[in-house]
Amino acid sequence: MKYAIVNGIKTEASKGITGICPCCGSLLIAKCGELRINHWAHKGNRNCDPWWENETEWHRSWKDHFPTDWQEVIHFDKDGEKHIADVKTLNNWILEFQHSYINPAERRSRNHFYGKITWIVDGTRRKNDLKQFSTWVSTRTQVSPKNLIFKVSFPEECRLINEWEDDNALVFLDFNQTTQDGDSFLWLIFPTITKGTAYVACFPKKRFVELHNKLQFDNFVQNELNEIMNIIRNGIARNKNQDQRSALLMNAENKFRKKPRIRL
Ligand SMILES: [Zn+2]
Repeated sequence: MKYAIVNGIKTEASKGITGICPCCGSLLIAKCGELRINHWAHKGNRNCDPWWENETEWHRSWKDHFPTDWQEVIHFDKDGEKHIADVKTLNNWILEFQHSYINPAERRSRNHFYGKITWIVDGTRRKNDLKQFSTWVSTRTQVSPKNLIFKVSFPEECRLINEWEDDNALVFLDFNQTTQDGDSFLWLIFPTITKGTAYVACFPKKRFVELHNKLQFDNFVQNELNEIMNIIRNGIARNKNQDQRSALLMNAENKFRKKPRIRL
């Protein structure tokens, strides 16, 4: 963990000090070595929160975009179950920074526990994920000329998408990519609407951070995101209608062909 309670204050680990775990109240020891980033650990390396993932530099740099008060917040549900959220914003959005693989069942239980959750996934963990994702996304079609939402078929051909796309929460993939102007961006995977098709969009990292820090993420979800989801749904409905129309045409053509010739 990044923080322990020392003399009643959220404190980062430094050599030789001890603190109290904000989750279980037991003693924490500051670990300040060279192999891993400075962190707090329970005695014997056990973890009081089974959902806790050992932190990487990637976790830390993400958390540092948000106020200290929002980082490592204990979240209780109505049954008293508690977990440490990586970041919990003032608007109760939980940001989970996920480096290692998480199985779908566990992810669903976290979605259920936290409710308003946004996943940020480290896309750089496995060597081939970016290459595979880039190949897959290059087969995209644009959803409408007005926006940069892309429709991509065969999500099963991309391991990372396959692992994350069936989620009903918002998922952002972080491949540590930048535009030509040097602006970092993420890939937003929209919640799945139909099987066999995924919808993705480039999303500026700065905007993601700002929307949360300025408490505008609810607004983004309720207005912008819902509007995009409607465009996607309408597109699907339109395509279905077109399919039905072409089926009607084909039937009509077949009938015409089968029509017996009139003898004169
Ligand atoms: Zn603990």
